[in-house]
Amino acid sequence: MGFLQKWAKRIRKRAATHGYVCDSCGAEVFEYPSRRLCAVCEGKMRPNTAKTCEKCGRQTVTEGVCLLCKQKLPAFTRGFSPFVYRGLSAALVNRIKNGKRRLAYYFAEKMAEYWIEKYPNVERFAIPMSALNAESDEKTDAETLLILPVPMTEKGVKERGFNQASELAEILVEALQEKGYAAELDVQTLQKRKETSPQKKMSFFERAENIAGAYHVHKRALCRDRTILLVDDIMTTGATGNECAERLLGAGAKEVILLTAVSLPERR
Ligand SMILES: [Zn+2]
Ligand SMILES: [Zn+2]
Repeated sequence: MGFLQKWAKRIRKRAATHGYVCDSCGAEVFEYPSRRLCAVCEGKMRPNTAKTCEKCGRQTVTEGVCLLCKQKLPAFTRGFSPFVYRGLSAALVNRIKNGKRRLAYYFAEKMAEYWIEKYPNVERFAIPMSALNAESDEKTDAETLLILPVPMTEKGVKERGFNQASELAEILVEALQEKGYAAELDVQTLQKRKETSPQKKMSFFERAENIAGAYHVHKRALCRDRTILLVDDIMTTGATGNECAERLLGAGAKEVILLTAVSLPERR
C-alpha cells in the first residue's frame, strides 16, 4: 500500500470514528452510542444502587424512609434517580445546564432503564406485543404515562436557551417508547410563572416557601386521572417535586412520580 492510500485510509477511519467519543472526557468509545461514556468515566459515576429511601428514592444510610421524608412526606408517590449527586455524576449533570446538552442522552437513557427496573407498577404501561402488530386491531388496555418536565420561567429559558428538564424528558419519552411503553410528553401543561431565588443553601421549608405558588397547571383536563412522571435534573430537598406534585394532584392527577437524573444522598 502506497503512502497516499495509507493516508486516505487514515483520514477515512478518522471520519468514521468522529463522534465516537466519551461524552465526558473525549476518549474514543467504539460502542458509541450504545455506550456514551468510556470505561474510566463510567467507573467514576455514582449509581444509586445501595439503600434508597422508600419514598423519595435518595440514597440512605439505613432501610426505610430518609430523615427529610420523616420530617414531611412529599406529595409525589415515589421518587427515583439513577445517580447520586456526588462526584462525576454531579459534575456531568451540571454540565448539561452549562450547555453540554449531549449529556442529556446519557442521563435520560439511564433514567428510563432505572425507572423500568425500580417502579413496581411499570407493567401498567407496557404495550402488549400483539398490539404492536400492524394487522391487529386488538384494543390495548395499556395506560399511557404522561411525562412532564419541571418547567423554568419563560425568562429563564430565554436566558439559558433551553430547559435541561425538557431536554431530559424529550429523550426519556423516546427511550420508554422504544422499550415498548406507552408514554407521551407535554411541555405546556406545567408552567412556572414566578421567578424564584436560587435555592442552593436553603432548607426544605425555606425552599417550600420560596417556590409556593410558582407553578401552575395550564391544561388541567389533561392531568385528570393520569399517572404523571415528573422529570427534573436534580433532586436536593425534594421541595420542587413536592410543589409540582401538589399542583398536579390538585388538577386531578391520579399519581405523580418524580424521576430525576441525580439526587442528593441522605446526610447523617
Ligand atoms: Zn471518558
Ligand atoms: Zn426520602
